[in-house]
Amino acid sequence: MTQLIDGKAFADKLSAKLADEVATLQQQHDLTPCIAVVLVGDDPASAVYVKNKIRRCQQLGIESREHRLPADTTEDALIALVDSLNADDGVHGILVQLPLPDQINDKAVIAAIDPDKDVDGFHVANAGALAVGQNRMVPCTPLGSMMLLKDTVGELSGLHAVVIGRSNIVGKPMAALLLQANCTVTVAHSRTRDLPGICRQADVLVAAVGIPRFVKEDWVKPGATVIDVGINRIEEDGKKRLVGDVDFDAVAPKVAAITPVPGGIGPMTIACLMHNTVTAAKRSRGIQ
Ligand code: NAD
Repeated sequence: MTQLIDGKAFADKLSAKLADEVATLQQQHDLTPCIAVVLVGDDPASAVYVKNKIRRCQQLGIESREHRLPADTTEDALIALVDSLNADDGVHGILVQLPLPDQINDKAVIAAIDPDKDVDGFHVANAGALAVGQNRMVPCTPLGSMMLLKDTVGELSGLHAVVIGRSNIVGKPMAALLLQANCTVTVAHSRTRDLPGICRQADVLVAAVGIPRFVKEDWVKPGATVIDVGINRIEEDGKKRLVGDVDFDAVAPKVAAITPVPGGIGPMTIACLMHNTVTAAKRSRGIQ
C-alpha cells in the first residue's frame, strides 16, 4: 500500500503548536510575532499566496502588516520600504512576495532585507549559513519538505536522494538539508543527462521543476519516497486543475510514499513561514 503523505494534516498540527507558542509568548513576554508582507503589482497568483499567508497569521495570532504597492513601483522605493521595516522593532519578519515586476531587481531587494528578518531564508547570509550547516533561516518549502520526509521515512542517513531542480528557493536548499541528514545527494537539472536513469537510483526523489506531470512511472524505483514540490495550474477537460511535477496516478502505485498536489508540500510552506516568523520574533528578544 502506498502511503499518501498528508501535508495538510502535518501543517495543521504544526500550526496548532505554533498557535500555543504564540499565546505563551504574548502571556509571558508581551511579545506578538509580526510579519510584514509586501506585494508589488497585481499578479493574481501572488495575490492568492499573500491572502493565504495573512489568513494563516490571523488563525495563529501572528500579527501581519500588508503593504501593497503599485506595479510601477521603483526598486529604490521598494528598498526604502524594506529599510523602514528593518528599522521597525515591532516587525520580526519581512516577506517580499516574488516575482517582482521587471523594473525591480529581486536580488537587490532580498539583499536589503535584514537577514534576521528574512523569514523566506533567501538572503545570501542565510543561504551561506545553510551551505555550511549553521542554519539560521531555512527557506520554507525545503524546510517543510524535510519535516514531512523525516516524519515519513525516519532515518534518512545513507539513502540516495535525487533532487530535480537547482533553484535558490527550492532545489539548492533542499539538497543542502538532505546532505545535512547524511543522504547521498544528486542534484539534477535541465542539463542533466539520462535524467530517468538517475531518478531510478533514488530512494528519495524530490521534484521541483515546474513542468506538469514531468516525472514518469518508469523513472521511479519501486519503494521510493517521492516529494512533489511542483504546483502547476493546467486546464484539462475544460476544468482548471492544480497538478504537481510528478505523474501522480501512474507513479503512486509503484512507490512507498508520495505527497499529493494539492495537499502535500503547499500547506507545509505556509506553516513553515509561520514557524520562521515565530523563530525570528523569539530571537529578537533572545528567547530560546
Ligand atoms: P525554477 O523555475 O526556479 O527552477 C526549476 C528548476 O527545474 C531549474 O533548476 C531547472 O534546471 C530545472 N528544470 C527545468 N526543466 C528541466 C528539465 N527538463 N529537466 C530537468 N530539470 C529541469 O522553479 P522553482 O521556484 O524551484 O519551483 C519549482 C516548482 O515548485 C514550480 O512548480 C513551483 O510552482 C513549485 N513551488 C512550489 C512551492 C510550494 O509551496 N509547494 C514553493 C515554491 C515552488
